[in-house]
Amino acid sequence: MDKKQRTAVMSSAANVIEAIGHTPLIKLRAASEATGCTILGKAEFMNPGGSVKDRAALSIVQDAIARGALKPGGLIVEGTAGNTGIGLALVANALGFKTVIVIPETQSQEKKDLLRLQGAELIEVPAVGYADPNNYVKLSGRLAERLAKEHPAGAIWANQFDNVANRQGHFETTGPEIWDQTEGKIDGFICAVGTGGTLAGIALALKAKKPEVKIGLADPLGAALYEYYAHGVLKSSGSSITEGIGQGRITANLENVPVDIPFQIPDEEALPILFDLAENEGLLLGGSSAINVAGAIRLAKELGPGHTIVTILADSGARYQSKLFNPAFLRGKNLPVPSWLERQPTIKP
Ligand code: PMP
Repeated sequence: MDKKQRTAVMSSAANVIEAIGHTPLIKLRAASEATGCTILGKAEFMNPGGSVKDRAALSIVQDAIARGALKPGGLIVEGTAGNTGIGLALVANALGFKTVIVIPETQSQEKKDLLRLQGAELIEVPAVGYADPNNYVKLSGRLAERLAKEHPAGAIWANQFDNVANRQGHFETTGPEIWDQTEGKIDGFICAVGTGGTLAGIALALKAKKPEVKIGLADPLGAALYEYYAHGVLKSSGSSITEGIGQGRITANLENVPVDIPFQIPDEEALPILFDLAENEGLLLGGSSAINVAGAIRLAKELGPGHTIVTILADSGARYQSKLFNPAFLRGKNLPVPSWLERQPTIKP
């Protein structure tokens, strides 16, 4: 596929892999009106696996095949909060590989069910911090090493945090798509970080085209990157109920990322935006997208009216019905519950 084909929205695809990417930019009405800017969300929830991580999964697998590390019938092993695993599983199924996923048991049931449906072998482990040798990422690395020796067709560790094929996928696809879709009329880009692949790949692609584009970081509470980019120290406090984001270290994917303006976004600021987008704009999104849109609003206020800012709508709210959209769960965390979530039918049949 040449660059023009890659960045255009496609009407047909030869296989599911070709259907990854080419997502639309959707104007976010309330966010744009509130700031006098044009705030656009890249609809990554429209990928075949339902999240932005399909792109990283495809790029990692294609790189491993090209290096000769991944052989026909081989295993792809990964530690993931869910979405990368879902992307890896669909890419693996389409190309003749198998997936083994190590997931912290705290992740949403919906994501675990989807992984099993897609044939991934799922290993649930207690959620412990990165410093602990039993952290899910470290466990997955050791497991991949063992399976590489034991499995007849071998195994690779996708290693999304420190494998820069992740950010390269965004550098080659998501960034150029945003550039083409805005026809270069973009003043700012902002998103949150899990591995950092999305932020890094897009930031580097946009800065290469237009160095004045401001790159923002939307960091949830409990992550350490806001303090790092604001004051040079990795330091965290508080917590967030969002999944898939919140990083405590500089991953290989984050190295030399040109972050101009970091923001720290509490859940209390993001959740009303999440509920409002669902109720009034037809966009049912996951929690990281809410942190991203809240960040885009902050960046828009910083840059002033008349600017165009792009962010990422990373996955769908359908993946979090049991948490973000569950009144009992929200109350248990002392978070706001939107009235429409508890609305009873008013019309009799
Ligand atoms: N949002 C969601 C829902 C995710 O699953 C992830 C990836 N874990 C991210 C955002 C962050 O993307 P990245 O890993 O590219 O930083």
